[in-house]
Amino acid sequence: MIQDEMRVREDICEIGRRMYGRRMVAANDGNISVRISPDVILCTPTGVSKGFMKPEQMCKIDLSGNVLEAAEGFGPSSEVKMHIRVYQKRPDIMAVVHAHPVFATSFAVMGRALEAPIMPEVIVNFGKIPLASYGTPSTAEIPDAIEPYLEDYQAILLESHGALTWDRDLISAYMKMESVEFYAELLYRTTQLGGPRELEEEKLERLYGVIGKQSEKVCFDRRK
Ligand SMILES: [Zn+2]
Repeated sequence: MIQDEMRVREDICEIGRRMYGRRMVAANDGNISVRISPDVILCTPTGVSKGFMKPEQMCKIDLSGNVLEAAEGFGPSSEVKMHIRVYQKRPDIMAVVHAHPVFATSFAVMGRALEAPIMPEVIVNFGKIPLASYGTPSTAEIPDAIEPYLEDYQAILLESHGALTWDRDLISAYMKMESVEFYAELLYRTTQLGGPRELEEEKLERLYGVIGKQSEKVCFDRRK
């Protein structure tokens, strides 16, 4: 599928403004990409706040990392390597969002995955949100660390770093990021209140009966 490029550039700017407005990224942090044809993506430039981007600043690159088009002084982020790995491994995925939302990143810094089954919406949306092990920025370590999770999940925490979400369109990938942060904040606040009450096995089984059993990795199962 070929997407209307100008429209995609404008959409990326709009999502950037929302991420910045919701304090999911500080200063120039975070990055967004959208696949516009099977082997070409548009991604946000390095060194620019996601709250103040212009459509003409987006970089066009292929899935080998070659820059096909970039405005003077606006190269792609070094973190685009992890976006590329998602597109390489998941031909169905059209958008990837990376941010440092404060609650999700707090769990990532503590080295803790989001794995408590505390509310049905989270289970329906994600199942568990695993933690990809630490990688040195700008190296292949981060793409390698996320690869094991790409098939079964649509959101992960990046150890000591932030969060990454992917989906079949940009709005959906961004909404996943909002939901990850909401889930992380709920876990944080309920822990302060004495610890969240997790759904019992029987409620989980009934929920899986309604939504259909997800992949075994994603499901919460205390019998394992
Ligand atoms: Zn980052």
